[in-house]
Amino acid sequence: MWFPGPASATGEDVAEFHVHGSRAVLAAMTQALRRLGLRLAEPGEFTRRAFVNGKLDLVQAEAIADLAAAETEAQRRQALRQLDGELGDLYRGWSQRLTRTLAHLEAAIDFPDEDLPSEIEDRILGETEVLITEVERHLADGHRGERLRDGIMVAIIGPPNAGKSTLINKIARRDAAITSPVAGTTRDIVEVVVDLEGYPVVLADTAGLRDSEDVVEREGLRRALRRAEEAEIRLFVFDARCPEEARGAAAWPRPDTILVANKIDLLPASPLLPSGERRKAPHPNPLSACGEREGPAKREGEGGQVTDIRRFSWGGFPQEAIVVSALTGEGIDALLSALGERVAQTCRIEAPVLTRARHRQALEEAVSSLRRALGAALPELRAEDLRLALRSLGRITGSIDVEDLLDMIFRDFCIGK
Ligand code: GDP
Repeated sequence: MWFPGPASATGEDVAEFHVHGSRAVLAAMTQALRRLGLRLAEPGEFTRRAFVNGKLDLVQAEAIADLAAAETEAQRRQALRQLDGELGDLYRGWSQRLTRTLAHLEAAIDFPDEDLPSEIEDRILGETEVLITEVERHLADGHRGERLRDGIMVAIIGPPNAGKSTLINKIARRDAAITSPVAGTTRDIVEVVVDLEGYPVVLADTAGLRDSEDVVEREGLRRALRRAEEAEIRLFVFDARCPEEARGAAAWPRPDTILVANKIDLLPASPLLPSGERRKAPHPNPLSACGEREGPAKREGEGGQVTDIRRFSWGGFPQEAIVVSALTGEGIDALLSALGERVAQTCRIEAPVLTRARHRQALEEAVSSLRRALGAALPELRAEDLRLALRSLGRITGSIDVEDLLDMIFRDFCIGK
């Protein structure tokens, strides 16, 4: 098929061959084309040519890379929105307004024998302030777009032997982490990426939270704490037989910390727990052995489905925990749906959001130039700061001075894009 430029995807003349996909056909085809002096495209070369020919801006080119790398539905949707030009339009809109403001200022500077009329000065300052507010609001998005692009971090924390590794394995349905009955075996952080209702979630199993003399284990603990602090959501896992262990969860902020009472299969029956002959047996309650007051409860979920949630209480501080057995899989679906809900809240997106650290950095530079412009003592200095801000904005969409960025951006592409 022949796509004459400039109406083609890259803006150049493009010929497309539709052939059978066998290796032999492709090899013969490639050889024939080589003989004509053609070569294979570099990674991202088609997109790069489309950018150079003005078919795409840089933000859209990055969206193509994201689309090709999208692993979940929400990532695909975000990349498509960006490819649609929504984000680029926002940045270009700011550039255009800033260009206008700068033009006003420069026009005023061109009449040096007169002082700047104060209403022009006020307007320039006013417009700059509004722009700062808008860019800062965009920056203060809680990194939602970047999170969605990179995966939402969920740290599994809790005391040793609570069943964290077993839980992550159950969720990932594969042996990602080594489980062992010896305390303190998960010395490093194991990550598993799962697709939770369309959202990419990076589950990190961390070393058990406990004091230790062992140097390696202490290092594991340090990393676990850092990971848990950085995570958007934490699953605090504890042994349901020892609810006082859940105390440790109080150190973490709610509601981003979900309490998970594990090993429910080892608990004897409670009349309030749903289903299960096993649990109806009249065993003494081992929870009392841990010296804690405990009140089981059940909740009616949608469609009459029962989510098993227990209320633990200590020192007048009630906590709700989702009750699971990482070993048998009981309660895991309820846990995943609670986690899915939290993840969806974390990533809820209305306005176009920032998706890359590169954009964030350029916007932060723009804001600091704009702030400097506000405080500038001379109109000429103010104009220079506005120009710098404009440059930072232009680097995002690629309208100015991005030669040095291109190799870096297109290097991440796969071949054929
Ligand atoms: P971690 O130190 O928190 O990562 O704990 P592990 O996942 O290594 O589990 C410690 C021990 O508890 C292992 O022997 C697991 O098989 C066991 N275990 C974990 N979850 C459960 C559970 O739900 N029920 C039972 N009965 N044992 C469990």
